[in-house]
Amino acid sequence: MSYFSHLYCSRCEKSFEVNQVVNLCDCGSPILAGYNLTGARKFQKEDLNGRRPDMWRYWEMLPVLEEENIVSLGEGFTPILPLNRLGRELGLNHLMSKDEGLNPTGSFKARGAAAGVSRAVELGITEIAMPTAGNAGGAWASYAARKNIKSHIAMPRDAPAITATECAVAGASVYLVEGNIADCGKIIAAGSEKYGWFEVSTLKEPYRIEGKKTMGYEIMEQLNWDPPDYIFYPTGGGVGIIGIWKAIREMEAIGWLEGNKRPKMVVVQAEGCAPLVKAFQEGKKTAEPWPNPQTDAAGIRVPRALGDFLVLKAVRESGGTALAVGEEEIKNSVQKMAEKEGHFICPEGGANLAALEKLLQQGVINNQDRVLLLNTGAGIKYPETLSFELPILKKEDRL
Ligand SMILES: *Cc1c(COP(=O)(O)O)cnc(C)c1O
Ligand SMILES: [Zn+2]
Repeated sequence: MSYFSHLYCSRCEKSFEVNQVVNLCDCGSPILAGYNLTGARKFQKEDLNGRRPDMWRYWEMLPVLEEENIVSLGEGFTPILPLNRLGRELGLNHLMSKDEGLNPTGSFKARGAAAGVSRAVELGITEIAMPTAGNAGGAWASYAARKNIKSHIAMPRDAPAITATECAVAGASVYLVEGNIADCGKIIAAGSEKYGWFEVSTLKEPYRIEGKKTMGYEIMEQLNWDPPDYIFYPTGGGVGIIGIWKAIREMEAIGWLEGNKRPKMVVVQAEGCAPLVKAFQEGKKTAEPWPNPQTDAAGIRVPRALGDFLVLKAVRESGGTALAVGEEEIKNSVQKMAEKEGHFICPEGGANLAALEKLLQQGVINNQDRVLLLNTGAGIKYPETLSFELPILKKEDRL
């Protein structure tokens, strides 16, 4: 049985029935899933032994009420790789990467899509619509296809080309927009209003974050309930960081982390699009929209986040920090990770490594700290990020 018990507004706390089909609260804020945390104290860590090796092993703390509604492609339970060689070079004794690139559709967006589409099935929704920087579209289109749910997806024309193909091949209606993800959002909002599609934009429905929070449960379980000191998160809309923090709070509430310290959350953005970093540094509770967002790390090219106040709250509560890195640093970091560790990460993941190096230089992080970098997607989804001049040999050439 799932302990999912109600929906509540993240700002004004108004509550809603579990089976009400909702987008935002009347106050304009995201609605989140709530659980019967007292009842959930019966759920024990030991219950996880021998369960399916995917995110549904935590189903008591997920919002799907009937098991038959679960739509899965095998998402979650991705490995945490020790980065010994790179760690040594940086002077860090405990450096790790959780490789979310191994998820179906090549990014951690699969987690959110699995939860979101499962709930859409449960609620009888037949058409969904969303703006995307690329990966979310690919994921939601794929999961929706499994249950014959029609998807309508708008993405910036300069989103990674593979992600448009991913949506199209799964039968979605895909629109390439001359503009950024915020422009796509306006187009989708208008289309949804007109045609009655259910909008599944970031934080405009309550369940994507529930899928993404499983990263928090997994990090704790895989590290044997001993949290890392820092978790680095390349932040766009911020769902993952809000989700991981929600998971930590839930695990505390059900007695899974007693006596443990909390990990410090690090928000990483690109210098060309850093609204949350700016707000953090200025001590603000919400972020101003970022004019003319630019970075090759498409997943974090998000000029305005609906959940800005939740991201900023999570970082501050955790005692973490926020910083931005440059495009060259991102590229160099992607290359460095592959060269030193054979781990081909996405540019967003590269931003994490660049940020780590900065915090080491500044003395914020020291060599005993246990650091976990979330590689949010597979490097092979971004063939356009790096290019190499390679020698071309004719058949008769010999080395
Ligand atoms: C979407 C995305 C992000 C940003 O995730 P949020 O949870 O929306 O902040 C980071 N990296 C990749 C590869 C993404 O696809
Ligand atoms: Zn509200």
